[in-house]
Amino acid sequence: MRIGVFICHCGKNIAGVIDIKRLTSSVSELEEVYYATDYVYLCSEPGQKAIQDQIKELGLTHIVVAACSPKMHAATFAQALEDAGVNAYLLEIANIREQCSWVHPHEPEEATDKAFELIKAGVAKVGQAVPLQPLSVPLNRKVMVVGGGIAGIQAALDIANGGFEVYLVERTPSLGGHMAQLSETFPTLDCSSCILTPRMVEAAKHPKIHLYTYSEVKEVQGVVGQYKVKIEQKPRYVDPVKCTGCGDCTEVCPVIVPNEFEQSLGGRKAIYVPFSQAVPLKYTIDLENCLNTRELVVCDQCYRACGPKAINYLMEPKEEEIEVGAIVVATGYDLMPVEDLKEYGGGLYPDVVSGLEFERLVTASGPTSGVVRRPSDGKIPKRIVFIQCAGSRDPEHGCAYCSKICCMYTAKHAFMFKHAVPDGEVFVFYIDVRAAGKGYEEFVQRVMEEERIAYLRGKVSKVFQRDDKLIVWGSDTLTGMAVEIEADMVVLAPAVVPSKGAKELAKLFKTPVNEYGFLDEVHPKLRPVESSAMGVYLAGAAQAPKDIPDSVSQASAAASKVLGLFSQEELALEPIKAEVNLDNCDGCALCVGVCPYGAISLVQDEPDGPRHIQVHKALCQGCGVCMATCPKEGVNVAGFTLAQLREQLRAMLK
Ligand SMILES: Cc1cc2nc3c(=O)[nH]c(=O)nc-3n(C[C@H](O)[C@H](O)[C@H](O)COP(=O)(O)OP(=O)(O)OC[C@H]3O[C@@H](n4cnc5c(N)ncnc54)[C@H](O)[C@@H]3O)c2cc1C
Ligand code: SF4
Ligand code: SF4
Repeated sequence: MRIGVFICHCGKNIAGVIDIKRLTSSVSELEEVYYATDYVYLCSEPGQKAIQDQIKELGLTHIVVAACSPKMHAATFAQALEDAGVNAYLLEIANIREQCSWVHPHEPEEATDKAFELIKAGVAKVGQAVPLQPLSVPLNRKVMVVGGGIAGIQAALDIANGGFEVYLVERTPSLGGHMAQLSETFPTLDCSSCILTPRMVEAAKHPKIHLYTYSEVKEVQGVVGQYKVKIEQKPRYVDPVKCTGCGDCTEVCPVIVPNEFEQSLGGRKAIYVPFSQAVPLKYTIDLENCLNTRELVVCDQCYRACGPKAINYLMEPKEEEIEVGAIVVATGYDLMPVEDLKEYGGGLYPDVVSGLEFERLVTASGPTSGVVRRPSDGKIPKRIVFIQCAGSRDPEHGCAYCSKICCMYTAKHAFMFKHAVPDGEVFVFYIDVRAAGKGYEEFVQRVMEEERIAYLRGKVSKVFQRDDKLIVWGSDTLTGMAVEIEADMVVLAPAVVPSKGAKELAKLFKTPVNEYGFLDEVHPKLRPVESSAMGVYLAGAAQAPKDIPDSVSQASAAASKVLGLFSQEELALEPIKAEVNLDNCDGCALCVGVCPYGAISLVQDEPDGPRHIQVHKALCQGCGVCMATCPKEGVNVAGFTLAQLREQLRAMLK
């Protein structure tokens, strides 16, 4: 065995703190080390070549690279080793940047000592390493996209156009998500439906896309390449094959309930389509509001009105199992309920509305046919106060983050109102205007100047009702004055929050969420669309508040990751997997229950023979929980065996 150690300066990142000369000389003196050297940037092309040259020249068999975090460049160095003929798993990384120079910038002596200890430990561990070969498992080249908003639609279309089958699962009766509710879109003010609806139709008609609307994911098993998913299709009580979307049923239905799509500003029948361009255009009976129950039919108006006899009050939920190799999660966002914003009159006064409610009021196809009317009395408001950051950037409301889209859509709303009501007045309360997007700043400036909107920098402390007016108390921090505005209507920009059930869904996919419940990516800069569960990708506002251009770009990025994965014949997996030691395992099964991935089962080779565990390699993620649990050294994770860890610790404690 010939162990070579390569120490990186990382420019001044490491060498600015650590005494590289002393470190290299101490490492060279270690008995187990055959050769040690340093280099200014090991990850660079010449740096990698220096390692490869020494491997060939000196016959080095095991390598320790002392540099930055293995998350950064382990793959680069592993490839360099393979190219020089050394197995990639005979490499150990000692992290002397994040764990030494960066955290101890003012203690160079101690940081150098610590770097030495880490290298010593790496040398001890690599000395116990054995060559490992990547595993390959079959790869199912179908994908499930969860969420049929613009992000999910885009991802599904990109993957389907790449030639692979897609299951697109949407929990409401139609595709479209929030974009379907929008009037016009900033900053270009193109009609939202006009750009969205063709995409919805394209997705529904695509021969490679299987559409599951009014459906939810109930169970997920397996790992990348081999997921088994149970989808529940909720009963529409209308046969989608027979329903022609004529709407004769809805005409005769006697029940009217608030319409969710219209943010309850309009009504719908108990048998309904969410909006007239819904895809698929198939009716659904909302059994909660229908006069019938599962046990008793007291009304059959829609049944009698339906020409093709599509109504079926006895329809049951349908469960289907699909098998896919990858998953894209695009479950989008909700808005913080206005009822949680009582200080702004949310939930207290009907004329305090959310941004989405305002969208419906200015939309030509909305409940007021695009004429902005106060919900309380239907009058056209003359003075509106918009309040940005309602709940966002406000730890007291549990949302310390910026919701990103509100500055822009408030400017859009102000613009649209001024065009609808030219003698109307608009006041906007803001903390600061964040308009970082192509054409965004220009749009906001145009709204402020050309439309003469009064932007007041400051916070609103209270909104209350006096006669038929809303009184807004706030402060203008630029003039230092307290402000009182008498308004006809108040429009809040509530915090963007993860969609309902996002946390529970994330648990099914074993993907982490951040402290606010948005799905977390592996690395915010380098792997922004990948979750830490291999084969699960993220798209759109499910990850963080996003506008349409960002949601669409991220969806295409997630699709390209899936296409990259599917370009392989078989799926290559890291060989860092649990392995049973049959001499020690007595089948006590302690490890079976602790494995978070259900990767261990108990088996018996012969009917009366001894029992032992068996590891399902595709499921095992190499987390090591089993190894830490087993009291008999019955299971080891390859690449991190007990022998390796023991030697590593011994070296550090020596
Ligand atoms: C008032 C307002 C105005 C806006 N105006 C603009 C604008 O002018 N320009 C702009 O660029 N952006 C605008 N936006 C932002 C825009 O709405 C979002 O960028 C976009 O909708 C994000 O798309 P998405 O697909 O990620 O999420 P969504 O639109 O939320 O879609 C998510 C979909 O997933 C479904 N879903 C959720 N959970 C599940 C589940 N468990 N199973 C199956 N399906 C599920 C939902 O039903 C929904 O259909 C505005 C937002 C608001 C609030
Ligand atoms: S059964 Fe009657 S109440 Fe129910 S959806 Fe049909 S018409 Fe409406
Ligand atoms: S290392 Fe052990 S506990 Fe972890 S996933 Fe593999 S089998 Fe399960």
